[in-house]
Amino acid sequence: MADITPTAGIHHVTCIAGDPQRNMDFWVETLGLRLVKRSINQDDPSTYHFFFADAEGNPGTSMTFFPWENLSRGKVGSGQVSRTAFRVPEGSLDYWEDRFDEYGVEYDDRVERFGETVLPFEDPDGLPVELVEVEIPDDDPTVPWTEFVPEEYAIRGFHSVTLWLADPQRTEDLLRTMGLEEVGTEQAQGDTPGDERTRFAAAGPVGRYVDILPTIQGGREGHGTVHHVAFQTPTDEDQSAMREAVQSMGLRPTAQIDRHWFRSVYFREFNGVLFELATSGPGYTDDEPLDELGGRLVLPGKFEARREQIEAGLTDVTVPRAEQVEADD
Ligand code: ZN
Repeated sequence: MADITPTAGIHHVTCIAGDPQRNMDFWVETLGLRLVKRSINQDDPSTYHFFFADAEGNPGTSMTFFPWENLSRGKVGSGQVSRTAFRVPEGSLDYWEDRFDEYGVEYDDRVERFGETVLPFEDPDGLPVELVEVEIPDDDPTVPWTEFVPEEYAIRGFHSVTLWLADPQRTEDLLRTMGLEEVGTEQAQGDTPGDERTRFAAAGPVGRYVDILPTIQGGREGHGTVHHVAFQTPTDEDQSAMREAVQSMGLRPTAQIDRHWFRSVYFREFNGVLFELATSGPGYTDDEPLDELGGRLVLPGKFEARREQIEAGLTDVTVPRAEQVEADD
């Protein structure tokens, strides 16, 4: 078996939303992320696929959504990513609480977790999200997008995902195979079902943590739930080696699928969470220049020929824009 390059961490997280405009308004304006790609679900071209990320769409920063309006509200449960957490600079949670008050976003009390301060809240579809204060180094690989939120408070990619699992052990073995290391266990707190939260850490600075909470509490897919979590396998060789390794554990990964901005392998892990392995390239600037990311509906490959028909089947959405700011001089 080929040597495995440990994953640097989370590549992206993909979730299910309801109304596309409400989803866009919250993630772009309220949370201040950049819309880096406006596209369609490649398996269901009547549905949008929105990608919200840092200023450059770097790996480890993109939160993506399928707004499936016809689905109903989901329920977080075992076999799902139960929460997605983002990094924000130390000392910025006062700003975020004020912003949430201003925008009418409900949030829970802050909690301390593994020595870090966490602010839990939900997006308009009920998706559980958290902001975690961390020290952002000068050479951080993420680039803040500052259209709606100033740099000193801006979200800087993923902090972690939390998995709710009926039988954590085999999933923990899988995470070790993928190159994550167990870093600690502590008493769970807040609205979590298990007694203990166990944390695994990957090698990279962004999206490096996977937390595990044991529970048999049932859930169902729908608005406000996570569809899958993708991990970074930068090159095709990295991905192929990782694919072989998870297959040898008895899992059934797909063949590589071209997702246009990255190439992907999918598999359900032992407890039913859908995992993806995603390459770094070619990236979101492959078909749009950096300063125009998200500016138009991008239809990859064969879908461009059906643009008129596809556009007619999509709800119109408006991307929020900050008011034109006058130049200083
Ligand atoms: Zn994905």
